Amino acid sequence: MAEQKRDYYEVLGVDKNADDAAIKKAYRVLAKKYHPDMNPGDAEAEKKFKEASEAYAVLSDPEKRRQYDQFGHAAFEQGGGGPGGFDFTGADFSDIFSDIFGDFFGGGRSRGARNNGPMKGANLRTSVRLTFEEAVFGCKKEIELTVKESCKTCNGTGAKPGTTPETCPKCKGNGQVVFTQQSFFGTVRNVQTCPECQGSGKVIKEKCADCSGTGYIPMRKRYSVDIPAGIDSGQSTRMPGLGEPGINGGPRGDILVEVIVGRHPIFQRQDMNIFSTVPMSFAVAALGGEVLIDTVDGKVAYDVKPGTQTDTKVRLKGKGVPSVRNREIRGDHYVTLVVQVPDKLSHEAKELLKQFDEITDDSLNAAKKASESDDSGENKDNKKKKFWK
Ligand SMILES: [Zn+2]
Ligand SMILES: [Zn+2]
Repeated sequence: MAEQKRDYYEVLGVDKNADDAAIKKAYRVLAKKYHPDMNPGDAEAEKKFKEASEAYAVLSDPEKRRQYDQFGHAAFEQGGGGPGGFDFTGADFSDIFSDIFGDFFGGGRSRGARNNGPMKGANLRTSVRLTFEEAVFGCKKEIELTVKESCKTCNGTGAKPGTTPETCPKCKGNGQVVFTQQSFFGTVRNVQTCPECQGSGKVIKEKCADCSGTGYIPMRKRYSVDIPAGIDSGQSTRMPGLGEPGINGGPRGDILVEVIVGRHPIFQRQDMNIFSTVPMSFAVAALGGEVLIDTVDGKVAYDVKPGTQTDTKVRLKGKGVPSVRNREIRGDHYVTLVVQVPDKLSHEAKELLKQFDEITDDSLNAAKKASESDDSGENKDNKKKKFWK
């Protein structure tokens, strides 16, 4: 970890608010400049290319970009099991590479023919609303989604019952076609996905009527989702392997459930910490005493010291939000103690307060005189205002 990772936005030279098109455009320029095939043997260029590709893989995926914006590089470190480890599979480089090489290789791709192999299916996204407490402690939620299920009529083959898919005559079942082409660099041997069977190696002569030959039927399905403790608004939880079916025998994509957390009447949350304001009477503030503080774990009795000023901040350690990565680790709850000034007073209370004021006037005046020597008038006014607010 000797080398500090550069900020992804900086790597691509784009603004934090850059839209997808700007990110793609910036990466396209860098990829063209630093691609190893364009800079053979240039280690520096290769490094730059990898760095830009990684940045693009993250920033072009809305989910990863959100995680990055929130956690920085830490979001993808050591695959931490957090809201998704880092991998390149989500990003689609293909159209950028075909854009780069298109001019020279007639639209082919220079390395491998990944498109022809099994590919993971697309992710399905949905969202759920949570209460403040549900997000803090985790919960189970029901979701309903339309998912493509294997067609029972044709067992997912897409062929009319009684018939079977046939080997593709164009690629002879390989899923790829090879052709040679004259180009700028001489003769280029090019491998492409078979256009006849889209890489599956099979063609269906008579389609299954139920699924129109796709092999899948859209079904409304319900799932119970485990929402982890500590999740925050905008974050998603992943249900692996329940998304869209894969291509050419690839695994299914995932279901991503984004959470929207509702407001709480008294608690505010910032990452793992909770903030609230708790009233205390003037008597408690002056004499000391106990206040009951609401926390997500219930009421906590707190001993107020005599002479506590309004706006005093108190930290209740470990009463905050658990970490999504490790629910044993919890943030703190910060409480602001605010002196309540009563707005309805009985006659008796008024009299007592007047008496109190007269008694304390002398000592206040004495304190004023003492502070005038080292405080500016403005400071003193502020102090007074703050105290009585
Ligand atoms: Zn079918
Ligand atoms: Zn074919």
